Amino acid sequence: MSKATNWLTFLIVLSMLLGVLFGEFILFDPDAPIDGAHWTKSVGDLVLIRPLKMLVMPLIFLSVIAGITRIGDPSKLGKLGISTLAYYLGTMLIAVVIGATLVSYFQPGHLDADVAMTLQQDGQAIFDANETKKAQIEDMQKESLGSTWMNILRQCIPTNVFKEMVETRPLGIIVFALGLGLALAAGGQRTEPARRFFNAAFEGMMIFVQWVIWLTPVGVFFLMAWTVGTIGFATMVGPLGSYIGVVLLGLLIHGAVVLPLLLWLLSGTNPYRFMWQMRRALLTAFGTDSSSATLPVTMDCAEGEGGCSKRASNFVLPLGSTVNMDGTALYEAVAVVFLFQLFGFELAFGELVVVVITATLAAIGAAGIPSAGLVTMVIVIAAVNSSLQGTGQELPLAAIGVILGVDRIVDMCRTTVNVWGDATAAKVMTRLAPDEPAATD
Ligand code: ASP
Repeated sequence: MSKATNWLTFLIVLSMLLGVLFGEFILFDPDAPIDGAHWTKSVGDLVLIRPLKMLVMPLIFLSVIAGITRIGDPSKLGKLGISTLAYYLGTMLIAVVIGATLVSYFQPGHLDADVAMTLQQDGQAIFDANETKKAQIEDMQKESLGSTWMNILRQCIPTNVFKEMVETRPLGIIVFALGLGLALAAGGQRTEPARRFFNAAFEGMMIFVQWVIWLTPVGVFFLMAWTVGTIGFATMVGPLGSYIGVVLLGLLIHGAVVLPLLLWLLSGTNPYRFMWQMRRALLTAFGTDSSSATLPVTMDCAEGEGGCSKRASNFVLPLGSTVNMDGTALYEAVAVVFLFQLFGFELAFGELVVVVITATLAAIGAAGIPSAGLVTMVIVIAAVNSSLQGTGQELPLAAIGVILGVDRIVDMCRTTVNVWGDATAAKVMTRLAPDEPAATD
């Protein structure tokens, strides 16, 4: 098993590098930029993203039921649930504070007046040209923070769980599976066959996942080629370079220092060893930009090499892939403050507090799909704009166009940190809910 996973890791890294080279030297052309309809993107989508997505909804359903029936006791489950939510919220708040501090300190948006003007004009043009994103962003603007939360609450209490599956909204499925799992656990002898069925179906699902995971090297080759082919390395050193640099620095501090420290303190685990054990999930997150599509790989690594209990990770990981987004929260704080700086607005401490709170909420509301954070960022911008009301200052929505072109690079990195955050939670919660081999099997 370990030989096979090492071989797979090697193949993933190799194909990523080859994809980067192919993208930079063969595909990238600043005069004729490639777009989302390019063949490399379509092939990556067909070979990797779609098969992974195909697994996600059934996997969430089966994994939560299997996990809950293993835990059984509602009071234990309550403790696990509250601790998990507290961990998620706490780490997201830390991430967002790191982001807000770094962007205020390095001020990547303070550029020469003519460079800033060019970026603003280009941003407007990119915003207008990208019709899909423009429509999503404008739709999001119509929603207030309150209605976004109401929406999340409605998703938690669905009226038709099959509809939630069809429309790929995981929260309702988690809640339903939680209820059914508890009922099956409470049913004793009467529900024993159903418990065995769901546990066995989950095991089967994980075998299916292990097969699909072998598609990762091929898929990431095409996805990396597309990313680099769209953006090109030159962007990294252009005027947006310092913005990208601040986001990456923040993600590095959070992912390589803060989360490992927490993991070590709360579980006594060697965090870097655990990071290595989670490597395939982290690489897949990096290559696919989607924590939701990565979920099957995250579960495979966590419950296999990573040594996380099924009881904890079956519940913690599906929930995390939906609500726990440390990387996204950090990124939203940096991006919003950067845009305000670029447009010449100085944010006072009070506005930074607004950024910290709303960026955390916006990250919770972001789905685990590519660019979701870019869209929910509108919530943060709207909140800061309204707290600036009366000063005559307002950031136009089209400002998001400035960072739209480089979002993919930043998204790859923040998604990796999102998945890493979920994995650390699964490891920490394993202490609260270790597996007892004799319990149900
Ligand atoms: N792509 C991220 C994820 O799937 C969400 C985001 O856009 O920040 O976790």
